[in-house]
Amino acid sequence: MTAPLRSLNDGNSLPQLGLGTYKLNDGEGVAAMVAALESGYRMLDTAVNYGNEEAVGAALHRSGVDRSDVAVVSKLPGRDHGFDETLASIRGSLERLGLDWIDLHLIHWPNPSVDRYVDTWRAMIKAREYGMVRSIGVSNFTIGHLTRLIDQTGVVPAVNQVELHPYFPQGAQRAFHAEQGIVTESWSPLARRTELLAEPVVTEIAEAHDRTPTQVVLRWHVQLGSIPIPKSSDASRQRENLDVFDFTLAQDEVDAISGLERGRLWDGDPETHEEM
Ligand code: NAP
Repeated sequence: MTAPLRSLNDGNSLPQLGLGTYKLNDGEGVAAMVAALESGYRMLDTAVNYGNEEAVGAALHRSGVDRSDVAVVSKLPGRDHGFDETLASIRGSLERLGLDWIDLHLIHWPNPSVDRYVDTWRAMIKAREYGMVRSIGVSNFTIGHLTRLIDQTGVVPAVNQVELHPYFPQGAQRAFHAEQGIVTESWSPLARRTELLAEPVVTEIAEAHDRTPTQVVLRWHVQLGSIPIPKSSDASRQRENLDVFDFTLAQDEVDAISGLERGRLWDGDPETHEEM
């Protein structure tokens, strides 16, 4: 089973669900990623700051899946903001991944106090021209940060990866993305397995569809039009998470899940959060 594809504003496409790889490091991490690729995952979400780009490259190589069939997504850390720094950083990612290109590269956080994300974006545009990366996007950018990028460079990010789960459905942010042609990706789509999966609204809908609570939450993301990247180290949970493309939630079910909204779960307000 593989996820259907979603078109991006630059003509490329991404699977509608991918594997989060935060904490999938070293040998165990490689094994978990190989299992995911063998189960049909075709997108791996890494970052310089996860310290596992080598592991992602090794998993891809070991799985035997054709390189062209897998979207490798990585992210540029705050310490590498700046024009020259960005190009050097992407070269480093390519080396660690052992790849000739990255499918989607994201600015990990805007780091507004550093105030170099516009120059960083100009370098990302260059990296795309050079063929180092095929698509470029951002992560944790607010509507204000996106507006500034677009106004100052004329290039709309293909993707914005943000915290998004039923406790934080990001309605206004998603509406802005839709207007601009930016694809939303959901990080921590399962709210890191907090009490979310035991919420009665989720468990009742799961029972009605004869699905697991996790599948219902991931299907909710897909129906919102966002690409979830659940992380799991376990092959059977990975398969469970990918198996969400053959059932549909009714609109009132989608709305009921969105009704769990209560706000961000972590200290990750992009206006103030600095991640180097
Ligand atoms: P998550 O995917 O919401 O939750 C992961 C947790 O859920 C793990 O403890 C996992 O345990 C568990 N889990 C997964 N599938 C399950 C299932 N079917 N049943 C029960 N439990 C299940 O959280 P996340 O790892 O924070 O977010 C996902 C990815 O988003 C990350 O890996 C990373 O790639 C990305 N991310 C990006 C940013 C950013 O700033 N851009 C920030 C945070 C995360 P097991 O591994 O034991 O299955």
